[in-house]
Amino acid sequence: MLLRHTSTEVMERQAVTINPAKTCQPVGAMYAALGIHGCLPHSHGSQGCCSYHRTVLTRHFKEPVMAATSSFTEGSAVFGGQSNLVQAISTIFTVYNPDIVAVHTTCLSETIGDDVKQIISAAGDEGKIPEGKKVIYTNTPSYVGSHITGYSNMLNSIVGQLAVKGPRKDQVNVLCGWMEPSDMREIKSILKEFHVKGVVLPDVSDVLDTPLTGKHDIFPKGGTTLPEIASMGSSKHTLALGQWGAEAAAITLDSKCKVPFTTLQIPIGIEATDNFVAELSRVTGVPVPESLKAERGRLLDMIADMNQYLYNKKVALWGDPDTLIPLVKFLRDINLVPTHIVSGTPGPTFKETISSIVPLANVKNGAQADMFLLHQWIKNEKVDLLIGNTYGKYIARDEDTPLLRHGFPILDRVGHSYFPSVGYKGAMRIVEKILGLLMDRQDRDAPESKVELTM
Ligand code: SF4
Repeated sequence: MLLRHTSTEVMERQAVTINPAKTCQPVGAMYAALGIHGCLPHSHGSQGCCSYHRTVLTRHFKEPVMAATSSFTEGSAVFGGQSNLVQAISTIFTVYNPDIVAVHTTCLSETIGDDVKQIISAAGDEGKIPEGKKVIYTNTPSYVGSHITGYSNMLNSIVGQLAVKGPRKDQVNVLCGWMEPSDMREIKSILKEFHVKGVVLPDVSDVLDTPLTGKHDIFPKGGTTLPEIASMGSSKHTLALGQWGAEAAAITLDSKCKVPFTTLQIPIGIEATDNFVAELSRVTGVPVPESLKAERGRLLDMIADMNQYLYNKKVALWGDPDTLIPLVKFLRDINLVPTHIVSGTPGPTFKETISSIVPLANVKNGAQADMFLLHQWIKNEKVDLLIGNTYGKYIARDEDTPLLRHGFPILDRVGHSYFPSVGYKGAMRIVEKILGLLMDRQDRDAPESKVELTM
C-alpha cells in the first residue's frame, strides 16, 4: 500500500497541502505562450524552475518543449535580474530568431520585485529587440493560484499587448481555456463545419502534437500567428471557453478593442457542447450544420445503448475547474454519480457551481483541496471509478479502483494529445473509455459461471 498512511479521519487543515491537485503558475504561462506561432517562452528566474516547467510539459505531451531562462544566480537574487533578462533577449533573437518572446516571472523574480515591463522597455531602448519582433510579459507569482492562473495571466497579456482595435471583420475569436492540442484541433474543425472564419487562441495543435518527420523545428508550423492575434481586436465577437482560463482575456479584449464576448464552459459533454454550438450559430447567423446534429445523435445513441453499465456508478474526480464543471455535468447526465470532487485551483464560484449540479457530492477547491483529502473521502465512501490526472494512480492502486486518465498532467499514458474530449466526438470518446474501464472490471470480478461473451 503506497498510501497506507492516509487516515479516514478528515481534519480541518489550513497550513499544509498534501499532494496538491495543481501545479505552478509558470507552467500554465509557458503552455499558453507555446500556442503562438514562432514564440519562445522565457522564464525570468532560476534554471531549476524553467527545467521543471519544461519537463512537466514534455512528459505530458511527449514532445520537446523549448523555453529560455534568465538563469538567475545568487547575484541576480540579490541585485535583481535586469542584466540577465536584457542579455537573454539579445541572445535569443541572435541565436534562435523567434517572432516573439513571451516572458513570465517566477516566485524568485516576483519576490525580489523585478519590474519586467520596465526591463523589456530598457532592452528595446538598447536596441536588443529587432525591428518587427515582439517581447511580451506576464506576472506569474506561483505562491498564489495554480497553473490555470498562470495560463489565464499569459492569455490575458497576449491579447492585452498584441490585439489591435480596427474596423470590424466578419470573424469570431475563440479563446481556449486549458485544453489539449487535440481539443483545439476539434474546436477548429467545428468552426470549419460552420464555414466561419475564426481565430483560435492559443492553438497548440501542430506545436505539441507534431508528426515525426525526421527533422526538428524549434518553431513548428502550428500556433496562432501574430497578424491573427492583432486581428482579434477587429473581430465581431469572442467566445471565451472557460471562466478560469479564458474569461479575463475576453474582458481585456472587450475593454481594449470593444469586442463583445460570451463566456461559455469548455465544450465537454452534451450540454456544454450544445451551448457552444448554439452560441456560435447565434453570433455568426449560420444554422447548426447537419453533420454536427448527426454527431450529437450518434452520441445519444451510444449513451442510450449502454446506460445499464453506467447507471448509478459513483465517481471521484480531480483537476481544473473549467474542465471539471462541464465534465461533472456530463457524468450526471449519463447517470453516473459524481461523489467526490477536488480542484487545487482557487476561485469563489467553483463549489457553488458544482453543488448546483450534484448537491450531494463532497466538493472542495483551493490549496487544501488536495489528493490526500480526496483519498480520505474515498476511504469513507468508496467509488467505482476515478477520473483525473496521473497523480491518482496511487489511490487507484491502493483502493483497487479503475482510473480514467483525464486532465493535466498525464505522465504515464498517451492519447490525450491526439484524441479530443471536447465536442460530441470528444464526449463519445469519454463514454467509450468509461465503459471500457467499468466493463473490464465487471469481466474481471465476475465468477466464471457469470462471464458474458456479449455485453
Ligand atoms: S519556485 Fe515557484 S515558479 Fe519555481 S518551480 Fe517552484 S513554485 Fe514554480
